[in-house]
Amino acid sequence: AKGGRNGHFAFFDPTMDTRLHKDMVMENHLRRAAHLHEFQAYYQPLVEIDSGRLSGMEALARWHRDDGTTVPPDEFIPLAEKTGLILTIGEQVIRDACRQMCRWHADGFDHLGLSVNISSIQFQDPGLLDRIRALLDETTFPAHLLTVEITESAAMDNVGHTLSTLQSLRAMGIKIAIDDFGTGYSSLGYLKRFPVDLLKIDKSFVVDLPGDADASAIAQTIISMSRTLNIQVAAEGVETEEQYRFMKEHQCHKAQGFLFGRPMVAAAAGEFISRFRQMRT
Ligand code: C2E
Ligand code: CA
Ligand code: CA
Ligand code: CA
Repeated sequence: AKGGRNGHFAFFDPTMDTRLHKDMVMENHLRRAAHLHEFQAYYQPLVEIDSGRLSGMEALARWHRDDGTTVPPDEFIPLAEKTGLILTIGEQVIRDACRQMCRWHADGFDHLGLSVNISSIQFQDPGLLDRIRALLDETTFPAHLLTVEITESAAMDNVGHTLSTLQSLRAMGIKIAIDDFGTGYSSLGYLKRFPVDLLKIDKSFVVDLPGDADASAIAQTIISMSRTLNIQVAAEGVETEEQYRFMKEHQCHKAQGFLFGRPMVAAAAGEFISRFRQMRT
């Protein structure tokens, strides 16, 4: 074949046609699934390292297709963002999660927080604050137990917009976490100006701990920097006892990962919550 994959002959690449077609089919499926409310929240525990207590759950979107299969977010969020469907889907997941968390609060676990993910498209949406306010009203979920997670790169996209949006969220009593921290390019100056409650160390830095010297230096730098800025830190992707111990020794505040629990359907998450006993400290 003449013309490389990167050359301008790529316009005539027949595989591109197929990809476009696949995207269109998928978009139709997504649109129908959103209409049928096929998106729901799974829940993954977040543990407070110092006390060993369960501090809350992160809601992670899953698509339950009518053929019985479950589709993970990596397979539908990119297209959902491109088509704007993420606004509807994201709202369904947050509503689902707020309602569920209210049930757990009513069952006596009323200290548990809920973290939700907001993608850059959702974050840029001028209706975001009204949507969240309406969702809290509708579900009666207490704002101070809600944490909104935005990725570091979304936060750095348009820092003026980020600052005013985060300030409004903070004024509503909502907590703010910067997700995937360490993978973007945020400057210390912005971190200091943004009202941020929590930094989540990206799991790509945690996976090589404690053996890898670079990963260890990066994790320690993030933890000590956030201490200076008075921001809490969570480690995501904690899979081993050694990684947990590393975080404990370096006084990281929270941890999340397969070591404690995978994302679970609501029923399994409810079981998990009622069985959870303080971790060894
Ligand atoms: P994220 O917010 O960084 O979520 C963490 C991801 O790491 C989750 O993948 C989780 O299942 C996975 N994970 C958790 N613990 C471990 C571990 O110990 N080891 C490993 N290897 N992985 C772990 P998931 O559920 O597939 O979600 C992927 C991404 O999709 C999320 O990354 C988030 O950016 C996005 N996402 C998920 N739900 C939503 C949503 O409702 N709205 C939006 N806008 N984005 C969402
Ligand atoms: Ca997250
Ligand atoms: Ca993350
Ligand atoms: Ca991620």
